[in-house]
Amino acid sequence: MNNNHRLSIIHLDLDAFFASVEQRDNPAYRDKPLITGGISGGGGNLNRGVVHAASYEARKYGVHAGMSIWEARQKCPQGIFIPSRISKYLEASKIFFQIGSIYSPLVEPLGMDELFLNVSGCESLFGSIEVIGRKIKERVYGELGLKVSVGIAENKFLAKIATNLGKPDGFYIIYFKDRQKILYPLPISALWGIGRKTEELLKKSGIYQVEQLAQMPDSILVNLLGKNGKKIKLLAQGIDESLVTPPSEVKSISRETTFPTNITEKAILIKELLKISQLVGYTARKEGYKGRTITLKIRFHNFTTFNKSKTLENSTHLDDIIFKTILELLNKVKLKKGGVRLLGIRLSNLSPEDKRNQLKFVRDKEDKLEQLSQSLDKIREKFGSKAITRASLLK
Ligand SMILES: [Mg+2]
Repeated sequence: MNNNHRLSIIHLDLDAFFASVEQRDNPAYRDKPLITGGISGGGGNLNRGVVHAASYEARKYGVHAGMSIWEARQKCPQGIFIPSRISKYLEASKIFFQIGSIYSPLVEPLGMDELFLNVSGCESLFGSIEVIGRKIKERVYGELGLKVSVGIAENKFLAKIATNLGKPDGFYIIYFKDRQKILYPLPISALWGIGRKTEELLKKSGIYQVEQLAQMPDSILVNLLGKNGKKIKLLAQGIDESLVTPPSEVKSISRETTFPTNITEKAILIKELLKISQLVGYTARKEGYKGRTITLKIRFHNFTTFNKSKTLENSTHLDDIIFKTILELLNKVKLKKGGVRLLGIRLSNLSPEDKRNQLKFVRDKEDKLEQLSQSLDKIREKFGSKAITRASLLK
């Protein structure tokens, strides 16, 4: 539980994202009501499609994303209507994510144009959370030519509320002491987990404002909203314990070696597996992942392939632990006379390592291995990955 209510979360939301990219790329669109849209599957007549984005100039006429192009034309006949160029936006979205990642390892994208950052522990590198927010805002504008609204608070929910209050081109901080003043007058739809249906249900019971939910007895809320009731009440009080969770794109890390001639000697197989263990461990450390499941892959001379796995109690990126597990697995495989043509190791069940907690939780013994691995990695980076094979591991 966070009891000191420190500001640690930044929420970023690109303003009128698609439309802003178009206005950036084409001066004729600037300061004009611009609407981008498309029809599912692409192509065809734009008029039968849906609004993807509306510039702020177009929003003044009541045009918003999700509305049919036809309706948008009724509301804003002078609007400029163009098809969305998704690949352009994806490109910008990727750079946006990369900029966020400079300031914290804990970056969570929400759609294409929003990011959450947890910057606790990053202040010593970049300055206070406010300074980091300003830097990102400037950098996004400098590198992408796009305006981003910034919200800062102690948790994700309040940070996103802050962003919305500051939009467009916003920079808004919600201090915990002000949370009630800010949250209570908001409509209930501002809370996460309240969709259209729930909103209607609550309104029928005379509940319109966040304040009413914040002060409602649990029993009544649970009756109205089921098991989500308590969580929604906490949000109404400004309490949100959800974590900033970076996406894990890498599903597994694997390396394999195919031999020019089939290997029949077990000692040679072990030596090769050591090399592959080190390569897998090195890659995992470099990419910032730890894995819990280790798989040995063996293909025999006759092309039959065996996979044997073990899932560990704690995830790892250490060569020694990977290698030891692989040896265990190897001992369970019945080797064939014709020999082995391929060996592989896969580390899966990955989680991004939390660098700030790493030292706290690594046990003493692993701590030493950790330091050793890190110094070996430095040597590998200098002399190439084949420079080191640890003799001690072969015993
Ligand atoms: Mg946006």
